[in-house]
Amino acid sequence: MSVETNIPELHPETLAIRAGRETSEYREHSQSLHLTSSFTYESAEQAAAMFLGEIEGYTYSRFTNPTVTAFQQRLAVMEGAERAIATSSGMAAIQATMLTLLKAGDHIVSSQSLFGSTTNLFSGLLAKFGVETSFVDATDLAAWQAAVKPNTKVFFLETPSNPLTEVADIAAVADIAHAHGALLVVDNCFCSPALQQPIKLGADLVVHSATKYLDGHGRVLGGAVVGGDALIEQVYLHVRTAGPTLAPFNAWVLLSGLETLHLRMEKQSTNALELAKWLEAHPAVEKVFYPGLPSHPQHELALRQQKSGGAVVSFVVKGGRAAAWKVVDGVQVISRTANLGDVKSTITHPASTTHARVAPEVRLKAGIEEGLIRVAVGLEYAGDLKTDLARGLS
Ligand SMILES: *Cc1c(COP(=O)(O)O)cnc(C)c1O
Repeated sequence: MSVETNIPELHPETLAIRAGRETSEYREHSQSLHLTSSFTYESAEQAAAMFLGEIEGYTYSRFTNPTVTAFQQRLAVMEGAERAIATSSGMAAIQATMLTLLKAGDHIVSSQSLFGSTTNLFSGLLAKFGVETSFVDATDLAAWQAAVKPNTKVFFLETPSNPLTEVADIAAVADIAHAHGALLVVDNCFCSPALQQPIKLGADLVVHSATKYLDGHGRVLGGAVVGGDALIEQVYLHVRTAGPTLAPFNAWVLLSGLETLHLRMEKQSTNALELAKWLEAHPAVEKVFYPGLPSHPQHELALRQQKSGGAVVSFVVKGGRAAAWKVVDGVQVISRTANLGDVKSTITHPASTTHARVAPEVRLKAGIEEGLIRVAVGLEYAGDLKTDLARGLS
């Protein structure tokens, strides 16, 4: 039984708590957890009808599961989309999307600042199967246009980018893609639907690492693909066959994550803006990258496209790697980890961690300087975070 899903006049903050809510015959108030791999049938006739798809029903959790369905329904509504399909991780969502949309001989145009595994997926695995990718500067609309080939099928972008928070114009890139008969896929991990809804701006599909802000507490891996019914049906058929399905327990955890998503994103963004302003005024800091600052090159676009600047702040300290490591080693509250999207703030030095395997000259060209530090701002008191960063900034 699914309740309260499709009441169109409800506000997104209500839908994050109510949409997709599902209870069993016992009418429990909490979300029920259906921890089962398979389901039973009333009769041989019913089993036969279900397998033929003549009647709806649950048969096997690689295909569908009520707890996973609840998560999918809620996320779809939050993204302003018709339907979502959940996956075992963010990378599983991107892989399932690409294997669904593409075949050998097809071409992708993608933003060049991408999550590392996404770059590896495009230039490694997909290339092995005959899919070619051109990487472009996401903020340069002429570059998107120029990269198109007759066999271009998919545009892919992340906005804001990691770690430099470059903002791509989703509506404008969608127009270029559609003019060439290609689809636009947006990785909405950094903003989450609480701050940005790419489908409403013209994107065809949204992919998520639910591992990050959707969970918000660093507990489980998960992912999702969100979009129109027809496209998601194709992705669903891929996922049920290939098997990167979300586990029911993880869906259950993620449903509670979604309930606090708006509150968390709002407060974490407020904290991030406060830190960004403070860092910009700090004499030991050379520059700050945060879309919520007027000094950010795409500040106007970010104001239009996002509800706030988001929760990730990057900055360059004077003195290169040694100075950056002093800040990273100085923290006593903020966690030293490359992960993000948690209520607990995290700090990382991209040049020696997430981007360490990139050749130094390529890294520099991409703006990953030795003095660059990325902080994914959490829910702690902002004053404590400043004090924590100040330890190594003197
Ligand atoms: C973490 C991340 C991913 C991959 O998600 P997993 O859940 O780790 O597979 C994809 N895109 C972005 C932007 C990410 O931050």
